[in-house]
Formats: sequence, C-alpha cells, structure tokens
Amino acid sequence: MRVLRVFDPWKSPLCTCPFKYSLHPYTGCSHFCLYCYATSYIGRKPSVPKNRFLDALKTDLLKVKQGSIIELSTSSDPYPPIEEWVELARNTLTLLLEHGMRVLITTKSYLVRRDVDILSKTPSAVMITITTLNRGVSRILEPDAPSPEDRLEAIRYLKDHGIPVGARIDPVIPGVNDDPLELKDLVDAIVDAGAQHIVTSTYKARGDSLKRLSQAFKDKSLASLYKEKGEIVHGSIYLPKNERARLLQPVISRAVERGITVATCREGLGTAFFKAPSCDGSHMIALRKKRVNSIESAGENSGA
Ligand code: SF4
Repeated sequence: MRVLRVFDPWKSPLCTCPFKYSLHPYTGCSHFCLYCYATSYIGRKPSVPKNRFLDALKTDLLKVKQGSIIELSTSSDPYPPIEEWVELARNTLTLLLEHGMRVLITTKSYLVRRDVDILSKTPSAVMITITTLNRGVSRILEPDAPSPEDRLEAIRYLKDHGIPVGARIDPVIPGVNDDPLELKDLVDAIVDAGAQHIVTSTYKARGDSLKRLSQAFKDKSLASLYKEKGEIVHGSIYLPKNERARLLQPVISRAVERGITVATCREGLGTAFFKAPSCDGSHMIALRKKRVNSIESAGENSGA
C-alpha cells in the first residue's frame, strides 16, 4: 500500500493498541514539540502535504476491510496550521467516511472542530494531547502548537457536538511537567471539559529530543537521569519501571477517582495502570456506535 500502514511501532511487545492502520496526510510537523520522537528519523521539518496523497489513499482503501480503524496520525499532527486552507485532513475524512472506515484522530489542534460535520457521520473518536496546563511550559515544550486552553476548548466543543473525545497526557517528563498536583489538576480540567478517556505515558528519550529538552530548560539533570538510569527499549531510552510508575500514578489515580477510563501507552506496568478497554481510545468508537444503535432501536420501539 502507498499511504496506509499497519500500525506496529517498531514491533514493540509493549504496544497494546488494537489492530489499526496509521495514516499521515502530512510529512513533518509544524508544531515542533521538543520531545517529538518522529524527528529522530525524519528530521525537524514543517508540515508538508504528501504528494498525490488522496489519489494514493483511494487506491489503498480498495484493499482494506470496511470498518477498519484508521488513525490520523501517529507520528505527525493531521491538523497543522496549513490544514486550515489546504483541507487535506478534511478531504481524507470524507474519503474514509465514503469507504465505511472507523476513524481515530490524535491531534493537538482545535482545527479538528471544523470537521465535526463529517465526524458526526463517521464512527469516530478524537484524542486531544495536552501535556500541561502551564502556558509558559507549554510554549517552550510545544512552541507552535495551540495553547492548553485551546485544546481544552476543543475537547469541550467535540463533547458538545456528540463526538467521543479523550485526551493524551503524553509525555510526562521528569522535572518538566511531572508535578503530581499539577497532573491531577490537568486530569480534572480534561474531565471537566468532557473527555471520557485518558492515555498517558512517560517520556522515552531519543538522542535528539533529549538534547533539545536539556537545552531549552537549561537543565542537565534530565540528560543525566536518562543516561544513568535509563535502558534502551526498541530504540528509545526508558526510565526504570518504578520511576515510570511513580511519574504516571497521579494521572491514573485521579482519572479513576473521576470515573473515566485510563490507560498507559507502551509502559508495560500491568493492570493497575490499565483501566480501559483500549489504550489509544479506540473503544470510544464502539461506544458511540452502540449509542447510535440504541437511539435507533429506541426510535423503532416508540414507532418514531
Ligand atoms: S504534534 Fe506530535 S508529531 Fe507534531 S511535533 Fe508535536 S509530538 Fe511531533
């Protein structure tokens, strides 16, 4: 296939995602998050629409079973600023709807709100990534991505328009956005905005992102921590299990207290850190389908 790929991140045994395809209308990413792992293999470049992307997608879709889960996107944002006028993600969604696919969107952008008309007709769910409520930290960490407030607003908007929505608190970086009270406040803000699921994970270092973070926060302790305590797992440096569990515990505990589903991404921390039918939020797509079906059958029963 030309643009659709089976999602299988470096064949990691820690990945708990259901079978799905990943799809990237753009190469590069104009959000320029310091922790981005994609830069380690494609470099740090702004979002550029892929050449003849929609033609390639049309051909690929003929080879894929209807009802497959397709995620936009796993290593670039499908809603960079140029999407506002290029409308490549929007045209992609139209094609996926026509071919009967299920859609999972992962983005940091409120631009996704524009496409609720298509999403409301598509079995779909949206995951909005928010790493901190601290605007100053976010400006350093994700310099060209929408503000945390705008992302919360996107959650609110999607919820109000009946689109299942969750959030990614991802990555949690020691010394940067790991304050337990701030993480609990973040979970509260996300739940209050209307999210029904959270997935979280710790920062898995790569050489280039670790250098960017250390320089931006003028702090050498992060690099020392990963170099001294970290172990290489499928090309990334992971902190020891107990350290990762400590970093993520506030998110898990608060999400459970608030009564929403919560999971971790590629952590291998066991069921205490995995309280959801899926990690990536794809279970919300089924929830929505069920709800639509039950509304339909209620209509039939009442003779409406
Ligand atoms: S939005 Fe995602 S893909 Fe884009 S720079 Fe940030 S982490 Fe990388």
